[in-house]
Formats: sequence, C-alpha cells, structure tokens
Amino acid sequence: MTVPPYQDDVKNNERTNYFNSPALDVSVAFPQATPASTFPPCTSDYYQIDDLLTPEEQAIRLSYCEKAEFPFQIIPKLGALRIAGLWCPGLSITANAFATAEIARVDASCSTFFLVHSSAAMLTIALCGSEAQKQKYLPSLAEFKTVACWGLTEPDYGSDASALRATATKVEGGWVLEGQKRWIGNSTFADALIIFARNTTTNQINGFIVKKNAPGLTATKIENKIGLRIVQNGDILLNKVFVPDEERLPGVNSFQDTNKVLAVLRVMVAWQPIGLCMGVYDMCHRYKNMPKQRSLSLSLSLSLSSSIYHNSSSSLLSLNYKDLKGI
Ligand SMILES: Cc1cc2nc3c(=O)[nH]c(=O)nc-3n(C[C@H](O)[C@H](O)[C@H](O)COP(=O)(O)OP(=O)(O)OC[C@H]3O[C@@H](n4cnc5c(N)ncnc54)[C@H](O)[C@@H]3O)c2cc1C
Repeated sequence: MTVPPYQDDVKNNERTNYFNSPALDVSVAFPQATPASTFPPCTSDYYQIDDLLTPEEQAIRLSYCEKAEFPFQIIPKLGALRIAGLWCPGLSITANAFATAEIARVDASCSTFFLVHSSAAMLTIALCGSEAQKQKYLPSLAEFKTVACWGLTEPDYGSDASALRATATKVEGGWVLEGQKRWIGNSTFADALIIFARNTTTNQINGFIVKKNAPGLTATKIENKIGLRIVQNGDILLNKVFVPDEERLPGVNSFQDTNKVLAVLRVMVAWQPIGLCMGVYDMCHRYKNMPKQRSLSLSLSLSLSSSIYHNSSSSLLSLNYKDLKGI
C-alpha cells in the first residue's frame, strides 16, 4: 500500500467552521428536553445510593451533562476503587466487565472515560508494552494518578482504521509523528496518549506513548456533541512530535497487533450497553411513577430495555472469558 505524503492531507482536511463554533447551551437548543435536574427521584434504587450523597454531590451529578464538562473530582475516587487495568495483577476480566457495566448504569460518558483509560490504553501497554513501560505507566494509571487515552481513529479513517495515515518516521534516538486523530476520548487532558501511526519505512502500523504537552502535540475538545457529552473527545494534531525510542510500544508491529487489543476492547465495550440498559430500566421505573406520563411507548421502552438487558447479558455471559487470556 502506498501512503501519499501527509502534509497534502493536512491541507485538504483543514477544519471546517464547525470546530470554531461556541458550545451550545442545551436548555436553549433543546427547550423541550427534561433537564436531569428536574427529573423525578429514583424509585428502584434498592441500595438507596441517593441517600448517601450530600446535596452538593447531587448537584454535581446533575449538572455536568448539561455543561458538557468532565467532573475531574471523580478521578481520585475511581482510583481508590482499584477497578482500572484489565490484565493488571489482582483484577479479573469479569470484575472489570462488571465495573464497566456499573459505571455505565449511572453514566454513559463516565463509562466511556473508564473504557478508554482502562480497556484501551492500559490494555495496550499491558499487551504490547515493554517490561519497562509496564513498570513506568501501569501502576499510576491503575490508581488514576495519571490518565491515558487511545488514539487510533482519524478524520477519514474510523471503521477502516487499518488504512490510517498518521506517520512515524525513524530519526536518531526516536521517532517523529505527524498526522491527525479524531474523536479521541480523554485526549484533551490525558497524561499519556497511545498513538498509532504508520511506520514510513515498513508501511506497517506501530504504537507510541506520547506524553502530555509534547512539543507539536495539540488536542482540541470537540464541542456540541448531542450524546456522551461529559466524556471529552479531542481532535489531535501531531505536528512533528518527537517520541524517544523507549516510548515506542515494541509489541505493535502491524495492525494485527492493534487488533489483539481491539478484540478484547470490543468485549469490554459490549458491557457498556448492558449497564446502559440497567440504567434505562431504572429511569423507566421512575418515569412510570409520574402520574401524567403513563403511556404505551413507556411500556414498550420498559420491555425493550428489559429484553435488551437480558439478551445481551446472557449472550455475553456465555462468552468464555478464559479464551481472552490466550491473546
Ligand atoms: C464518543 C466517542 C468516543 C470515541 N473514542 C475514541 C477513542 O478513544 N479512540 C479512538 O481511536 N476512536 C474513538 N472514537 C472513534 C470511533 O472509534 C469511530 O467513530 C468509529 O470507529 C467509527 O468511525 P467513523 O466515526 O469514522 O465512522 P465511519 O467509519 O465513517 O462510519 C459511519 C457509518 O458507516 C458505516 N460503515 C462504515 N464502513 C462501512 C462499510 N464498509 N460497509 C457498511 N457500512 C459501513 C458504519 O457502520 C457507520 O454506521 C470515538 C467515537 C465516539 C463517538
């Protein structure tokens, strides 16, 4: 496969005005929407989690989606739970799957933040990193003392990511990365960015760990998302970013290696809709109990979320997780 010079692509891909638009005020843009802050209280929270929250914590929970901001104060609390790090010692795959579903049950964006950090970035280092890289990065990522992101998708290469165009050119002592990445969750604030780029000598995909604030690296928040508003998706520009040799992931030598990560990541991502269905089911229960709102569409949505939940759970639970360990 021949890869055309990257600079031409950058010119052709100049950002549209969309990227310069200010963030939307949801209450103005969607006045018909019921804001989370006026949603009726939970009736099927058997653990009565709400009772454990202070009024301040309840306000935090409700406002971030509307503002499309990330609640950074949850990061140390997630760290204390010790739930990050598939393939890290002490955490089973099943435990990780349930953590993903439970976070998704409460908030889809936060589960995306968690998946990107744990089941994409940490997993790539665990499966494809050197021993030194694992020692250097995984402990602090597992405790959420640092946050990681995972940069595969590009403006023109999403589903067909194996054709990605970002380049990695070998220079003395390291590599120079050039290109663009789009939709990269957590990238606007991540301490470590896993970046996939095409080796200009071998034409194969390689993986790199790029540090926050590396000269030539910019990550701009993608504004005006209609869904998953809390997770911060970034548009990354790599303008001759130098990465030292020791930050190249030795286990990523072609897209087949990236696929080993994707194979596990897809299974973990599948636990997100299970958690979402659990959350939808819970929301429907609350909605049902509002006298004016009983309707056929509600009962349909209840039975739909219930059947999605049960079908997806049983099909995923029938998956033999031990097979994943062989990857
Ligand atoms: C909230 C969010 C977070 C994300 N986080 C990350 C991240 O952390 N890291 C990262 O690398 N990427 C991330 N992504 C990007 C994500 O992986 C891509 O959006 C996804 O791979 C799809 O690529 P695309 O958006 O370019 O869509 P496209 O590939 O353009 O697809 C658009 C539509 O066309 C369909 N389609 C595409 N090709 C075919 C075909 N050959 N035949 C039939 N139908 C086809 C697709 O199914 C889809 O419905 C994120 C995206 C979102 C929305």
